[in-house]
Amino acid sequence: MNGLPAGLATTHAYVRRWAGDLRAGALELDRDPDAVHSFLDLPAIRFLAGHETPPGWERTGPEAGAGPAHGLATLERVLVSEELARGDAGMMLASPGASMCGVLLGVLGSQAQRDWVYGRLAERPRWTCFALTEPERGSAIGEMTATLTPVGDGSYVLDGEKRYIGNAARADVGAVFARVAGTERLGVLAVLVDTADPGFKAEPLPTLGLRGAQLTRITLEGVRVPAERVLGAHLPPTRRGMWSIVAVFDRLRPSVAAIALGIARAAHEYVAEHRRSLRGAERETYEELGRRIDAARTLTYRAARAVDRGRGGGYLASAAKARACEVAEDVTLGALRLFGPGARLDHPLLDKYARDARGVEFMEGTRNIQKLALFQGLHTGKVGRG
Ligand SMILES: Cc1cc2nc3c(=O)[nH]c(=O)nc-3n(C[C@H](O)[C@H](O)[C@H](O)COP(=O)(O)OP(=O)(O)OC[C@H]3O[C@@H](n4cnc5c(N)ncnc54)[C@H](O)[C@@H]3O)c2cc1C
Repeated sequence: MNGLPAGLATTHAYVRRWAGDLRAGALELDRDPDAVHSFLDLPAIRFLAGHETPPGWERTGPEAGAGPAHGLATLERVLVSEELARGDAGMMLASPGASMCGVLLGVLGSQAQRDWVYGRLAERPRWTCFALTEPERGSAIGEMTATLTPVGDGSYVLDGEKRYIGNAARADVGAVFARVAGTERLGVLAVLVDTADPGFKAEPLPTLGLRGAQLTRITLEGVRVPAERVLGAHLPPTRRGMWSIVAVFDRLRPSVAAIALGIARAAHEYVAEHRRSLRGAERETYEELGRRIDAARTLTYRAARAVDRGRGGGYLASAAKARACEVAEDVTLGALRLFGPGARLDHPLLDKYARDARGVEFMEGTRNIQKLALFQGLHTGKVGRG
């Protein structure tokens, strides 16, 4: 990509180079998500494990990356996500590191909370999780039922159930969203949890796509949350719960769009490699899919830059996520069609890409939810019609 600041261009070049290693392990991890432990020394995984660590906890060497160029963290995440997901999205999402929990810490965490989490991540490769979704209430986050019951001195007891939480069964630390008992919308809080604490139970769920992310069901039964693990306690109540969810998702949604683009590119390149003699209508279909990937990328970069500038990026990010997921599904299914009946059995990697594309559709809000957000933006005049 032209016009990148030098630091970002260097990071982009490194992750491009490392993507091939991820692809080599893709099917093994898809069969057995626990195989992730044998990939921890790959440069891409080491890079992700330390990506975006704040001052004081940075690593050194190429695997540390260049660090986000000032104010371009979303754009960096987009560049990294597309390249590494092009290598393999499952491997990328299986990586240890601060991940979504780190973005939440950036929005809500105090210095002591960041030190607690990043200090633990610096000891060895460790996973974190971000637990928002609940059974039967995935998209309806306002109806959350996990509960924080105050027990005096600012501490709480946490009860409830979370579902489809990436990496939770591997995680040492989690950020969990719950409602303070007896409160309404403003009563949602995020808290940090040590997964070794009594009452925290995580069981991996069987899934079809993005199996490396090892989606998990979490049961929370009387988990003690000391006052110092409540995120955003130093901020006004309006900036803690729902606001923080929106802020985190605005920052992350462009990179989820980029994951979808990475999967689409992987499938597109697979066709180029394995079906060299495309002619007529097949060639036209193939080229049209390529143009749609490029167009969705342009939209995703625009969204990332708008988020980084703090200018209405949320709506553009919704548009980019919806478009990129649609493209990823069309490209992966279109690629399978180009190989004819039996393609899913004869081309397991392509079959995996199609399952993974379906998985990204559900990450951070489905297309329906993104379209709903866009419609509300248009309806209220917050999104331009031009
Ligand atoms: C790979 C992956 C990783 C994930 N990681 C995490 C994680 O780390 N942490 C976390 O908290 N969650 C995570 N999730 C969960 C994800 O956020 C949810 O799957 C998502 O919010 C959708 O919720 P749901 O699956 O319950 O579907 P539902 O919300 O039940 O939706 C089911 C269907 O109904 C449609 N629908 C719902 N509401 C409306 C509406 N108002 N209008 C029109 N249509 C509607 C949806 O589009 C969808 O097609 C992950 C999911 C995946 C697939």
